[in-house]
Amino acid sequence: MKPGIIKAGKWLLNALLPRTCAHCGLDLHYLEPKPLCPGCAALLEPLPELRCEACGLPLDDGGRACRDCRGGAPRSLALARSAFVFNPQLRSLVHTFKYRAREDLAGFLAAEMAAAFTGFPELAPYNFSVAVPLHPAKRRERGFNQAELLASALAARCNLFHLEDAAARTRNTPSQTALSKEKRKANISGAFAVAKPELVKGRNILLVDDVATTLATLDELASELKKAGARSVAAYTLAREP
Ligand SMILES: [Zn+2]
Ligand SMILES: [Zn+2]
Repeated sequence: MKPGIIKAGKWLLNALLPRTCAHCGLDLHYLEPKPLCPGCAALLEPLPELRCEACGLPLDDGGRACRDCRGGAPRSLALARSAFVFNPQLRSLVHTFKYRAREDLAGFLAAEMAAAFTGFPELAPYNFSVAVPLHPAKRRERGFNQAELLASALAARCNLFHLEDAAARTRNTPSQTALSKEKRKANISGAFAVAKPELVKGRNILLVDDVATTLATLDELASELKKAGARSVAAYTLAREP
């Protein structure tokens, strides 16, 4: 079947099915613009003010940097911020978006990211966006790259120059989710290539993804971008998993 017909079919199916809250399953009012019921939407947690000034990790005490950023190995990634903490409500949203083929949620999620973006003036110099690429096999399987959808919609809302296909995933690595921090680093090593170095040379790049956890993936891609000549690389994600 042609992609256009599949897309129209999905749209029709979404329009006909009763809409329910992505987290608790409550029926949504037909005029409710959000994919969450008002109760669940109110529980979304913005990234707290008390956070590591380098990697954005929420902190329990009043320090300026987390333990990793104070004493860990230096990163290629200069800065990381997220719109929300990865709590149960946001986890359900991301899961619905990615694994239940709800690419229509990209607009809502990118609008939330754009609203939070203005609260991070430290990200303002990073005006060229690059999505964390998926391996072509994984992209085919899912039908879309969630990071690409978020990045292009965010760029349109925040006046960023979106660099499509600047980087590519050359190795189809197993999912990072079940791995320890050390193993994540080894798993992702050498997984990316900068396909179009001329697009990133001398520029401040903002990497965009859905969820940041240990920053291993973002740091690996930042390292490749810097090798290709990027001036500085920061990351902005929808969610931060502490
Ligand atoms: Zn709900
Ligand atoms: Zn940190």
